Amino acid sequence: MSGDNRVAAVLLARGKEISGDIIAWRRALHAMPELRMDTPMTEAFIVKTLRELGVTDIRAGVGGHGVVALIKGDLPGPCLAIRADCDGLPIKEETGLPFASQNGNMHACGHDAHTAIALGAAKLLTENKSRLRGSVKLIFQPYEEGDGGARAMIADGALDNPQVDAIIALHNHPTECAAYEAGDILVTPEPTSASIYAYEATFYGTPAHVCLSNESVNPVHMACTAVAEIAALPNGEGRIINAVPVINGGVRNNVIPETCTVCGSIRSFDAALHKATVARVGEILLATAERFGGHVEVKTSIDLMATEIDRPLYDSFLSAMNTLFPERGGVERRDREIIGEDFARFAACVPAVYFMLHTAPCGGAYPLHHPKFDVNESVLYRGSLAFAGFALLWQEKE
Ligand SMILES: [Zn+2]
Repeated sequence: MSGDNRVAAVLLARGKEISGDIIAWRRALHAMPELRMDTPMTEAFIVKTLRELGVTDIRAGVGGHGVVALIKGDLPGPCLAIRADCDGLPIKEETGLPFASQNGNMHACGHDAHTAIALGAAKLLTENKSRLRGSVKLIFQPYEEGDGGARAMIADGALDNPQVDAIIALHNHPTECAAYEAGDILVTPEPTSASIYAYEATFYGTPAHVCLSNESVNPVHMACTAVAEIAALPNGEGRIINAVPVINGGVRNNVIPETCTVCGSIRSFDAALHKATVARVGEILLATAERFGGHVEVKTSIDLMATEIDRPLYDSFLSAMNTLFPERGGVERRDREIIGEDFARFAACVPAVYFMLHTAPCGGAYPLHHPKFDVNESVLYRGSLAFAGFALLWQEKE
């Protein structure tokens, strides 16, 4: 048996044994979802659990209520970061589970499971320090739902001291798919989340009685003209979403209003197309206002890059998964949705890899952000194994 296979066999056996702990942590977190940057109870739970696991190098309050913990191996080597998001959503839970949230919010995206999985990896890694080259930094991040947490934690030094050499994260995958089995590690070398730009543009005209239309500047006409031009932009054969889902202005049929607001969203996995479309939409908004003799104020609501995957790191991850789970290995992910993930901000700083853990089947298999969403708890330990196994196998190679 090779060294790698021995590490894999030891981990696999231990991973199954700690499955109950991971499920218990997930249930405790599930019962107390917190929102955005306001996650003090989650922070306290993570710190307490890490201490119980024997982790001593813990920094709480990073960028608000984020937690960074360091596990040092007995051998010299690089630093791999494992990032878990830990915030909930303002959704009233309808699962009827005995540990369902009662506080009006819900872990409807499974970030409770992500946090529990990272704690499971911490347990496996503290037990295997003698095999670990370098160190593993665990980053528990609030406010993924809105692009605030990663930014705050990076600004507060989450990637420094020691400097992180590579980073990994996961998301649960609750959607049934014939090609996947429960617990599969789904991977792709393509960007795993999209570039997202959202804006709010307010057109300013001249308020007047409608009978003075010919002398006034009508912001509703400006907005409609701009939206028609934006909607006609090429969509790169479906490679870009460029939608204006909100147009809001005016009060009644005989009043020209002062303002009219439009909100738009641009999303793509194609960074160049995304950038060009964002620029073109900005030009259209300004040029339209100028042509009508009014003006426009454009506010950016979201500006998040795609999560770019580092190819050599991806190859190492795939090889580690093939060693760790010989029966399935890393399974190619075929279904990507055009969603954002602020892990992209970490990936923009250091080489990154990302995977999804297939957590179906589970009850009615409700999608992410649904009030009846749930995960298949019996496979969560495989996420911990993927994190810890990659840390041990990758660092051996570096
Ligand atoms: Zn999520």
